[in-house]
Amino acid sequence: MRKTIIAGNWKMNKTHKEAAETLKKLAELVIDRENLGGVEVIIGAPFTALESAVRATENTPIAIAAENMNANESGAFTGEISATMLKELGVEYVILGHSERRAMYGETDAIVNAKVLAALKAGLKPILCIGEQLEDRETGKTNEVNGTQLKGGLSGVSVEDMKNVIVAYEPVWAIGTGVTATPEMAEETHAFVRSVLVELYGNDVAEEVTIQYGGSMKPENAKELLAQKNIDGGLVGGAALDAEVFYGIIAAG
Ligand code: 13P
Repeated sequence: MRKTIIAGNWKMNKTHKEAAETLKKLAELVIDRENLGGVEVIIGAPFTALESAVRATENTPIAIAAENMNANESGAFTGEISATMLKELGVEYVILGHSERRAMYGETDAIVNAKVLAALKAGLKPILCIGEQLEDRETGKTNEVNGTQLKGGLSGVSVEDMKNVIVAYEPVWAIGTGVTATPEMAEETHAFVRSVLVELYGNDVAEEVTIQYGGSMKPENAKELLAQKNIDGGLVGGAALDAEVFYGIIAAG
């Protein structure tokens, strides 16, 4: 049985104090519910909030993710953060290849792939983001674009390491726009993504990979999206900033 994993991506929001406050509230909500029904919860926080976030979620079921990292182990990379630095803080996951980083910071599939491999080597679990632009969808290139990003991002990742990889499908046109892919539309692409994983790693491994949907997910649409066969969780931006709203999505999982 693959895991349902609901992750928040706070992007460039929340100071370390704000992060600790929100996580305290979220932890209370999550702990109150005796059994999360098997849903795992992750929060992706900015670098400066990570230490506070890890501390605020100690002894809770919430895991913490970084939102980026550098692929190099150490050295002359001014302003950058390595996987080892994150791991030592108690960070468990790292969001890689988000469409904002691809579009604004020139991250190519090769760069994303180097980060995925470096994360796994350091014992961090990558959340590999893929997704097509509106123009790709309108010109019938959705599968081609997602297939290329997935294969590129996973190049050289072993079968054993796939246990520690989450894939997040985020149609770029649905991010922060309020426009969600319909459950059927999302499911179609999720099924395609899984078929590529079958091609790469075989059926047994592919069946175990959690594929999250991201793009204007909110409490009102989460249940229907998560009910789809190949949608195993969410990567949530705006609706993850408030503990109670985010909990509404977790409860739908
Ligand atoms: P929104 O939920 O704000 O659309 O953002 C999705 C996202 O980019 C998560 O990584």
